[in-house]
This record gives sequence, structure tokens and C-alpha cells, in this order.
Amino acid sequence: MSENIRVRFAPSPTGALHIGGAHTALFNWLCARHTGGTFILRIEDTDRERSTPEYEQSIMDGMRWMGLDWDEGPDKPGQFGPYRQSERMESYTKYANQLLDAGLAYKDNGAVLFKVPSGKIVTFDDEVYGHIEVLSDNASVNQDGTIKDIVIIKRDGMPTYNFAVVIDDFTMNINMVIRGEDHIINTPKQLLIYHALGFKPPKFAHLPMILGKDKKKLSKRQGATSVFEYNDLGYLPDGVFNFLALLGWSPKNGQEVFTREEAVKLFEIGSVTKKPAVLDMDKLNHINQEQMKIMDPYKLLEIIKPFWRGLGLNITACSDDYLASSLQTMGGRGQTTMQLAEYSDYFISFDAVKERYKADDINEERRPALKKFYSELLGTSEFTPEAMESFTRSWIETNESSMKEVALPLRWVLTGRKVSPGVFEVAAQLGKEECCRRLEYYNLI
Ligand code: GLU
Repeated sequence: MSENIRVRFAPSPTGALHIGGAHTALFNWLCARHTGGTFILRIEDTDRERSTPEYEQSIMDGMRWMGLDWDEGPDKPGQFGPYRQSERMESYTKYANQLLDAGLAYKDNGAVLFKVPSGKIVTFDDEVYGHIEVLSDNASVNQDGTIKDIVIIKRDGMPTYNFAVVIDDFTMNINMVIRGEDHIINTPKQLLIYHALGFKPPKFAHLPMILGKDKKKLSKRQGATSVFEYNDLGYLPDGVFNFLALLGWSPKNGQEVFTREEAVKLFEIGSVTKKPAVLDMDKLNHINQEQMKIMDPYKLLEIIKPFWRGLGLNITACSDDYLASSLQTMGGRGQTTMQLAEYSDYFISFDAVKERYKADDINEERRPALKKFYSELLGTSEFTPEAMESFTRSWIETNESSMKEVALPLRWVLTGRKVSPGVFEVAAQLGKEECCRRLEYYNLI
């Protein structure tokens, strides 16, 4: 029987949840959900000066925004709590004393240091990076290359990261550690501590480095972007989720756009690649657009509403049914929620149209013919795109006109835009009465 997978995401609350952190959290979550295991959130707040409750909150909010729920955490007590390092001091003291008693650690200037042994081979089989072997003499070194003992308890009594992480992962029964590749260098140090305490180490899976589009390591600015900023820029949680999942992993079947359920089903930690992943915004835009297409229209509506409000549009007079079907009429246009809100403004406000299209934009020579056509079009009893289209086709034949001649001005009048979904779809969605109002305003019926 294989044991139940227990993985953890262990952020330090010294900043918001940024892209790198969200990526690590996501892969832990996927691994837990795929295997039916447990996902733990542990707050590594031993840096008392830089850690704040507000950052802890914002990390949790960011995870919730992405839809990454955890099974145990500071707000979800479990058998292995508490889930903040600052509340687990007793266990650090206990195990530091155990090392001191065994002569494997010593005190110096009030700090406790772990004695790094010489001549030991430290090995582990990383799920992603493969077999890694380091001589203990090289695991922790001074600038001159000599062995550097590892501080485990600082002078202020707080444990260091490399020590606390070992004690916590062991005492919380974590059996798979999934984290960024920047921690590979720490793993041999941690393994030496595992061995000294006689603990069975977990498995390790280090995630590939994330690079900017320029193929350089993610800059502070790009990497520090909080996941909420992605929301404000117009990305869906599902879009960011899908996009981040593809950084270092892809389903064996080559599928690029997937739902959470599909990702959970298809995810394998063993198929994560160590090849650095590139943060490509064009790809994010594409994935986001695809996710908007498959999203439930009423769910999408709730996400779009604040963007419409942000554009100063008053949606209170419109029903949810009307708004959701307006979004459907958009037919997948717009890569971001922000764009979709902007491109669809004419379904909500005629003022938006008037601002873009002026009455004197109409060609006076064409006006009489257009007037005749629009009046007859509005007279068609069935106001569906199909009926309008077939009426138009026969009308232009009889009147020696063209689709372009009659449809383009109509698009301008209804939307104030050069590009939109099919003009008859737009007309049908707006309804006869509203089309009448807009055409009347421009003196076209
Ligand atoms: N607190 C560490 C970090 O944020 C956790 C690293 C780990 O997962 O071991 O980088």
C-alpha cells in the first residue's frame, strides 16, 4: 500500500502571493488532488521583522482567488498543527537539544550550530531533476571552501529556515516536498540534518526556474507581481491557473487548454520538466481567452461586472439574463476580461456609441437609401439574425446595393465600432426597440 501523499506550501509572509509562489502552491495542490492526498499550508514566519499578518492574509486570499484550497493550515486546524512556525518553537528547541546532547551540534555566541560532517555522500533522487549527489564537505562552505557549520538556532532564539523546515516537514508527516529549484542547493544541508536526527526524509520534487520572455531569470518586478494584479489586468483565476500549470508541465495528450478537473486528472509530478519555463504573456492572453470561452456565462458575468462599472457603465437597468447573453453574443472576442468589458459596452450604453460615432459621420448621399432599408428591416416581423440576414440579401439584390453598403453603417450606429460580432446578432441582442432608438437618433429611419 502506498502511503497517502502529504504535501505542503510553505510561504514566508513577507510579501503578497506572487507568480513564483502561486506556481509552487499550484503544483503542490495538483499533486495532492491528483493522488487524493492532503495539501497543507504552513506559514514560515520566523523572520519576525519582515513577516506580517497582513501578508499572511493576502497570501491566503491569493490562493483562494486561484481556487487552491488547503486541507490543513492556520485557519484549518488539523492533527499536525499549529501551522505557523512562530507557534512551533517548542519542537525546534527539543530537536536542537537532541542534537546538542548527541554532540552533533554546539553553542557559539548564543547561537546553536549543526556540525557538518566531513566525507559523507549526500544523495537524493529528485522527482524532477533526477539523481543528485553532493559530498557533505561541499554542502555548506565558507568563502575559502572550508566546511561551514550550519546555524540552526539564531542568537535571538529563532530557528533558521534550513532547520525549521526539516523539523516541520518531519513532524507534520510531509512525505513529498515540492518547491522551487532555488531550494535544490538547500536540500543537501537539510538531508544532513534529517540523517543526524534519524528522520526518514521525504521525497523531493524541485520545480523548474521561471524565466521572463527575454529568457532571463524573472526580474523582481515581473516575479513580484501579486496574483491580484492579474485579476485587475483582466485575467481569470482559471486562466492564470491553466497558464501556471503549463509552466514546466503539460498533459501527455498535448492538451493546452484545460479545466481544473482535467488538470487534476492528468497531472503527474513525474512529468514535470526541469527545462526552465518562460513566462510568455502572449500565451497567457491566449489561454485566458480560451478559458473565457468555456466559462459558464453567468460566472463570467459576475467577473465582468466590476470592469463595466470601472468603465463608468450603469448596469443596474439590465437584467443578468440580458447581460449574460450579451457576453455570449461577443462570441469569444477579447483576450482579457477588461477587453471583453470594453468591447461590449454598447450593449449597456448608447452614450458609449454616441461618443464614438457622430451624426455627421454618415454619408448624406447614401442616407435616403439607408433610411429605406433600415425602415424595412425593422419591419421584419422576426427579429432574428437569420431572418434579418436573408431579408437583407434579397433586399440588396432588388435594390442593387451590397452587404457592405448597408451593414457597415448599421454596425457603426449600433456599436460605434468598426469591428464587432455579426451585426445582425448584435441587432437581435439589442432588440428591435433599442435598434429603433439608435437609428432614429442618427436620423436613419
Ligand atoms: N519559506 C520557504 C520559501 O518561501 C519555503 C521553502 C520550502 O518549501 O522549503 O521559500
